[in-house]
Amino acid sequence: MSNDIGPVGRHEPPVMWQPHEGTRHAYRPDYYAEGAEVAALCGEPLEVRRGLGEVEWLWTSCPECVAGAWRLVHGTEHPSGGEQA
Ligand SMILES: [Zn+2]
Repeated sequence: MSNDIGPVGRHEPPVMWQPHEGTRHAYRPDYYAEGAEVAALCGEPLEVRRGLGEVEWLWTSCPECVAGAWRLVHGTEHPSGGEQA
């Protein structure tokens, strides 16, 4: 298996998505607190925020975070290999 990041608690969503500088990144919710600094699955540092606007959720997802989130959820490589269509 390629899920090398570790198991995810059953009571938490496997990943959270965070808009950051025009792109949506994913991170593990271990540090889910307003204002917390976290590293996205691609390594990008970002700040956890809540109360996000609708527009931000329409931003493009970071391909590396898409692939990383897929691995956390499914335990397999993303079918596209992380590339966006
Ligand atoms: Zn990312």
